[in-house]
Amino acid sequence: MKTTVITDQEREKALATIKKPEVIQKQKLDVRYHVEDNDVSDRPRRFLDAFAAILKHSNYKMILDHFIRMTARCSRCAVACHIYQATGDPKDIPCYRSGLLLDVYRRHFTLGGMIRGRITGGGYLTDEKIEEMADSFYNCTACRRCALECPLGLDHGLITHLGRYILSEIGVVPRALVVSVRAQLEGPYHNTSAVPVPALKDTLEFLEDDMLEEKSVKIVFPTDVEGSDYVFFKPVSSPSLW
Ligand code: SF4
Ligand code: SF4
Repeated sequence: MKTTVITDQEREKALATIKKPEVIQKQKLDVRYHVEDNDVSDRPRRFLDAFAAILKHSNYKMILDHFIRMTARCSRCAVACHIYQATGDPKDIPCYRSGLLLDVYRRHFTLGGMIRGRITGGGYLTDEKIEEMADSFYNCTACRRCALECPLGLDHGLITHLGRYILSEIGVVPRALVVSVRAQLEGPYHNTSAVPVPALKDTLEFLEDDMLEEKSVKIVFPTDVEGSDYVFFKPVSSPSLW
């Protein structure tokens, strides 16, 4: 595989102090992420139980085993990450974020880590580490841009997904996300803008008429057609913008 080597200038840029204090300060607010029905008792054990269950029923183990052996500490991912570029906070460097979960995996799910932990008596998962992971994993957009840059193919977006999956199993989820998903699945209108179905159908008919009038093209926007080959999920705000 052909890779380009990061230049000294790029490395300097990635590691330079470009912190924007107001951004970092804002993000450090206690409300940076919200939790729903957050049972804080015995969280480390519940986190590890959830982690173990996910490892058992997925192929994440193989990926994590690969990731904990690989790193070149080259900083290419830091240069690629827009979050780090915006905040300048070293904690937003992609491999730092992934390292939080990889450390837990290494310590609690590998033989070497478990033996080392027994000998040193340290490295246990704590509430503070869970807080740090929650803060970090909900700060990544999981866009995987960094993975495209990593010469070793480390996929930080994948680790972010796994971290959020485990956190969600113990109730640590952004409240806005919970509320909007609930509105879509269980709400009366099944969308977060409370657009009633008749209003949506009206808008679609209006759009069809508009297309015919302006472009002389007859286009039909069918809804709820069983057995369709394609389905289009519109952004919820779209009907009100048309
Ligand atoms: S996946 Fe996360 S860490 Fe990677 S570039 Fe996107 S925001 Fe940054
Ligand atoms: S994760 Fe990849 S790009 Fe980032 S420092 Fe490690 S080897 Fe380099």
